[in-house]
Order: sequence, then C-alpha cells, then structure tokens
Amino acid sequence: MGLVKRMMEEYESRGYGEVPDKFVCANCVNDRVLKNYITTNASGTTCSYCGKRTRKPRSIDMDAFMEFFMEGLRYKWTELDYNNFPYDDEEHKYLGIPSVYSVYEILCAEEWLLNSDLIDDISNIISADEWCKHCEAHISDSGRSLLDYWHYFCYYVKHNTRYYFHSDTVMDEAYSWDERDFLTVLDDITNQIKYVDGIERVLPSGTTFFRGRKNNNRDGYEEKDLCTPNIEHSKYPNRMSPAGIPMFYGALDKNTMQSEITDTNTKYITYGCFVSNTPLIILDFTDIPPAPSYFDDKNRNKIEPIEFLKQYSHTISSPVPSNKIDNIEYVPTQVMCEYFRHRYKSKNNDKIDGIIYPSAKSTGKNIVLFQRYEDFIPSFGSRTSKIKLEPMSIETIEITK
Ligand SMILES: [Zn+2]
Repeated sequence: MGLVKRMMEEYESRGYGEVPDKFVCANCVNDRVLKNYITTNASGTTCSYCGKRTRKPRSIDMDAFMEFFMEGLRYKWTELDYNNFPYDDEEHKYLGIPSVYSVYEILCAEEWLLNSDLIDDISNIISADEWCKHCEAHISDSGRSLLDYWHYFCYYVKHNTRYYFHSDTVMDEAYSWDERDFLTVLDDITNQIKYVDGIERVLPSGTTFFRGRKNNNRDGYEEKDLCTPNIEHSKYPNRMSPAGIPMFYGALDKNTMQSEITDTNTKYITYGCFVSNTPLIILDFTDIPPAPSYFDDKNRNKIEPIEFLKQYSHTISSPVPSNKIDNIEYVPTQVMCEYFRHRYKSKNNDKIDGIIYPSAKSTGKNIVLFQRYEDFIPSFGSRTSKIKLEPMSIETIEITK
C-alpha cells in the first residue's frame, strides 16, 4: 500500500487529518483532566496559542493532544455518516436524531478549550461535519441512556402495567423502539448506580433518627404510636410506599422531621429519637458526587449513572400534591422502593435496610427503613427491630406560625 493511501486510512479511522505543527499549554484548556494530561506529558516550552514561554516544558505537541482529546470527544459525541445512520435524502436530515451539531458548535458549547485559535484549528482538522450526542443516536438499545429507561419505566408503571411485575412484562407499548422487561431495566439501572461513590453506605450502630406525629390533642404517645404504623393505620400512599404497606419514615435531624409533618392545621408534634442497634446498609440519594470529566478514561463510565442519580434524586424530593388519595405521581418511586427492598443486592450481596432521600420541604435528609410495626412491638414470629425508641427522648413541641 502506498504511503499516501495508508495515511488517508489512518486519518479516516482517527477522525482527523494532518495536525498543525504547534504546541498547546494547560492554560489554554478548561478541563482538569486535559490540563493534567498536558502538564504530565509536556515537551515544549512555548504555547503556540497563548504565546506563553516557560523555562521548563509546559506545553504538549498537537499530535499528542489530539489523540487524547478525540477519545473524550468521541465518548460523549458521535460522528454521523450516511452508512451507519438512516438518512432522508429528500428532507436532507438524519432520521430520529433530534439535534445535529458541527464540531465547531460542540467545541464552543462544551467549554473544554479556552483559546479561539485552538478551537478553530481543531474544528478544521476534524473530518466529520455532523455530530450528535451518543445518547441521542437511537439506532440501537446501546444508545439509550439510563434516563431514557427511567422515563420509559415511569410512564409504564403509571399508565400501563402497575401490579403485574415479572420478567415477562415487556415494556414495548409505551414506545416502539425496543422491548425490555421491567426487571432488566431496573437491574441495568441499579447495577450501574451502586458503584457511584457514596450511594451505598453503612450507617453505624448508634445512628439517631427523628420520627414524629401530629398530636393536636396532646395525647401521651409511646413507642407503639411513634414507630412504623400498623397495617390498619397505613391508609395513605407515601413517597416510597403505597397504602397498606407500612414503612418507617423518619428524618436525620429534628428540624427536617418537624417541617415534614407540619401543615396549616398542626398545633403540636410529638416526636421521639430512634437509635440503631446494628449497622444499617442504606442507599443514600442525597449526596450525589459531581460527574467526572469526559477525558477521565478510568471514571467516565460513571458520568451516566451520576446524571441519572441527579434526576432521580430530584424526582424523589419534588413536592407532590397531597390532596389526592390515589396519587399516581408516587407510583414509580414506590415500585422502585419495592425493588430496592426485595430484589436489590448491595456490592457485598446483602439486602439493604432503607433509603436516605432529600426532604421536599427543607434542605435536610429523610430516611425510609424497611422496619415493620411487628418488629417494634413484638408478636408471634416477629424479628427484633434494628432500631429502638429511646423512651426518654419523647417530647411534644408546639408549632408556632
Ligand atoms: Zn497556552
């Protein structure tokens, strides 16, 4: 094969042509990982873009830079071409792809690069004119994002199938683009989110939870009145549990407990502190870490789970009108909670004890624990509760408006 032909083939596979004989420094880029890559591999003492000169090497040649840069660019974005994507010749557009961008538009919007000459140079050497986000390139299931599946799942349990929840319940009616069953969709989502730092946590023995109830008649409440309600009293749907399936709802601090319960009719609240007597394995959706850089090849597979978690955390902390008894807005998080309770296994293959989620009424944190009334108030065949009320902690407070 001739040299020119071999070079053309290489240009095609790497996605860009001949690179200008220039150097770029870390000050001309805006991404932590890109900066670090330049600093670590620096071989030049002058930046061709900002003109900065240094005694020690502080800039990298554009060949080395482009090789690294393209990997990050192609992780988020994909080149469109007629061979791999359906194209409408009459309308002159790709079918099913909502937004198509030039590489120049992408580089300006992403703000990875700080120098306009650098943006021009890179735009000029990259071969493909049209790009789209990977997650919008819906030609195969692998292009679907976790958020796509979550929206799909929410629609399905609200408007199609709610109680028949088996692996042969194929979610093919809400959208026409693929066939997935409930459990596969939830397994896919949770298998990715469990590896995001801080999502799975162990609360040490001795952790305190605040739980209260309205008590306008100032009755003398005891443990049976403040623990998880019994089945007869579990009449209303909640964020994580439907009517008839009681769970322990509490808060991690007193103020959050108070703001969760208080409404216009509340005069008094009686609350107590429950303390764990064993380590509790929980999922914590309140402290989602920032997404890693697209140029971080070791961690960028966590970008998508983190984007999902941000949206999920927002969903479970958004206020839902409480005036409707049969409020279907709770359904997706209720189904998801049952999944976490009964099917989900932690990284160490354990069942989990509960979920921490952001309060919709304050900046604090709420918790739901899978402890039943019978666990607190022993009866035949019940287990021992993993949390117990501190009897001396019970207090009634007046709500001042
Ligand atoms: Zn520079």
